[in-house]
Amino acid sequence: MCKPKLYEVVMNAIVTGASRGIGRACAIRLASRGDNVIVCYRENEAAAEETVSECLRFGVKALKSCVDVTDENAVRRTVALTECELGSVDILVNNAGVCGAGVFTEFTDADYHRIFDTDVLGQMYFARAASRVMIAQGQGSIVNISSMWGICGASCEVLYSSAKAAIIGFTRSLAQELAPSGITVNCVAPGVIDTDMNRCYDSETMSDLVSRTPLGRLGQPEDVAGAVAFLTSADASFITGAVLNVSGGFVI
Ligand code: NDP
Repeated sequence: MCKPKLYEVVMNAIVTGASRGIGRACAIRLASRGDNVIVCYRENEAAAEETVSECLRFGVKALKSCVDVTDENAVRRTVALTECELGSVDILVNNAGVCGAGVFTEFTDADYHRIFDTDVLGQMYFARAASRVMIAQGQGSIVNISSMWGICGASCEVLYSSAKAAIIGFTRSLAQELAPSGITVNCVAPGVIDTDMNRCYDSETMSDLVSRTPLGRLGQPEDVAGAVAFLTSADASFITGAVLNVSGGFVI
C-alpha cells in the first residue's frame, strides 16, 4: 500500500508565537483550510486561548502549548506533544520573535541574548526538534519568519536585522540539508506589519514607514499568513530555500 503523501491527508502544524499578531493569523489561516494546529505562546495564555477558539471554528483540532522558544527542553516537549496528540508534525511555522531598537554602541549583553536567543536560537531549536520527526516521516514543511530588515539591514535595529539575516542563511542552508528527506524549508520576510511589535513607534514614524511602502499601507498579519499558507501548500511543493518578500514593495 502506498504511504499517504503530504497534502493528501490532514496536516498537523505547529505555529510559534501564535497568541498574537502574525502567528495568530497563520494559525487561523492554516486551520481555515483544515490543518490541525498547535498554538504556541510564551506568557499570554488568554490570547492563545482566543486563537485556539478561532481555529476550532473550522472543525479542526487545536491545542495551546506554553513554550519559551529559548528553552530547548520546552521546545522538545511541544514537539512531543504534537506527535502524541496529533500523530505527526507536518508543518512548522517558526514565527515567535522579539525586536529591539537602539543605538548599536548602547546595546548590552542582555539585549544581544534576548534578541539572538529568541529570534535565532529559538527558531533553530524548533527546527531541530521538528525536523527529527519530519525526517522519520520523510516529509514536512518549515517556514521561518525573517524580516525585510534581514535583507537590507536597518539603522538602529542592528541586532534585530542581524538576527533576521541569520534566519535567511539558516533557511537556505537547512533547505539544502533537508531536501533529500522530502522536507521544504522556506522563509518569509515581512515588511511593516500592523501588530503589537510596532506599537512602540509613534504615529509620525508609522506614517513615514507607510510612505516608504510603495503599496501605500501597513501590511496586515493576514498578508503574511497568506504567504505562509502558500509555502506550506501543495502549490509550493517544488519550492525550497526561498525568501518570500512580503513588504508591499518596501524592499525590492
Ligand atoms: P508580536 O509582538 O505581535 O507577537 C510576538 C509573538 O511571539 C507572541 O505570540 C509572543 O508570545 C511570542 N514570543 C515572543 N517571545 C517569545 C519566546 N521567547 N518564546 C515563545 N514565544 C515568544 O509580533 P509579530 O506578530 O509582529 O511578529 C511575529 C514575527 O514576525 C516575529 O518573528 C517578528 O520578528 C516578525 N516580523 C514582524 C514584523 C512586523 O512589522 N510586525 C515585520 C517583520 C518581521 P506571548 O503573546 O505569549 O508573549
